[in-house]
Amino acid sequence: MTRIYNFSAGPAVLPVEVLETAREEMLDWHGSGMSVMEMSHRGKEFMAIAQGAESDLRELLSIPENYKLLFLQGGASAQFSMIPMNLLRGKSSADYINTGEWSKKAIGEAKKYCTVNIAATSEDRKFTYAPKELKLNPDAAYVHYTPNETIGGVEFDWVPETGNVPLVADMSSNILSRRIDVSKFGLIYAGAQKNIGPAGLTIVIVREDLIGETVKGTPTMFDYRIHAENESMYNTPPTYGIYIAGLVFKWLKDNGGIDAMEAKNIEKAKTLYDYLDSTDFYHNPVAVEDRSRMNIPFTLKDASLDEAFLKGAKARNMVQLKGHRSVGGMRASIYNAMPVEGVNALVEFMKEFANA
Ligand SMILES: *Cc1c(COP(=O)(O)O)cnc(C)c1O
Repeated sequence: MTRIYNFSAGPAVLPVEVLETAREEMLDWHGSGMSVMEMSHRGKEFMAIAQGAESDLRELLSIPENYKLLFLQGGASAQFSMIPMNLLRGKSSADYINTGEWSKKAIGEAKKYCTVNIAATSEDRKFTYAPKELKLNPDAAYVHYTPNETIGGVEFDWVPETGNVPLVADMSSNILSRRIDVSKFGLIYAGAQKNIGPAGLTIVIVREDLIGETVKGTPTMFDYRIHAENESMYNTPPTYGIYIAGLVFKWLKDNGGIDAMEAKNIEKAKTLYDYLDSTDFYHNPVAVEDRSRMNIPFTLKDASLDEAFLKGAKARNMVQLKGHRSVGGMRASIYNAMPVEGVNALVEFMKEFANA
């Protein structure tokens, strides 16, 4: 068996130890005689799995007690609608920071429910930096931003200051990659398929006092209160996704938790950026201080070599390096589960290709 180095932005690489455990437990989870996929979500076996996943994630992120942790479906994209539906709470406008493709999608949905004030945008320089100055509206229901733009490769290295206005963050592509202070946020959300587990599970961490009032016509399934009151079991949750996410949380704990992961992520990103900066054969367009540790887009000086680059990488067991269609070139996503060796192998290949 050959495991490749998978640089996909999502669904993305998972820790091999997690996959091995899932394989061992596939037919008979802990003597239950069943696969997790076959279990009742209300049975004691699955309840134990879900509670374990919840308490491990709470521990990893030090989630305060006045925050609910929800296991939902619909991806981060469903949150683009659920956030205005639940957090407007009678207000008519929300602030959004526009830093690229994912921010734009969130903004597009919010506009269906309220006036969107663009508190800052980096569109003037093609979304290649994180704006430092915000024009906030003190009456806004919340401020929304995308701490890591997965496509553009731009990451905020700080948390915007929004005073009493709740801060909402789409952490789909950098949750669990670095230390965060959850109490600075009103709501954090993330699709699982990048840095957590399989597609189909969405994590929402929301301050209790922000939920309970929805816009008129909000479907039951889009009401955070319903999910919070039912401990994410109002309907059938994505059970297998929660199970795998739980194994990933255990893996994180066994490997030193968030601090150890952050140190490793800094090292991996530095390896790649140091090389990119040492050559003019490749180019990363993002302002140095705002470069993502998770998603690293780069172009080749001569785009006609793109195909040969991808082919050469594939021959060396490195896949999914093609950049997003809106940016072109290449993109290396190097989430928690990407080993240091994978990044080293990529840089070795990049050097070899540049010097050929
Ligand atoms: C991938 C991604 C999304 C979309 O996630 P889905 O789960 O596919 O809806 C939203 N925001 C960011 C930052 C992403 O990386």
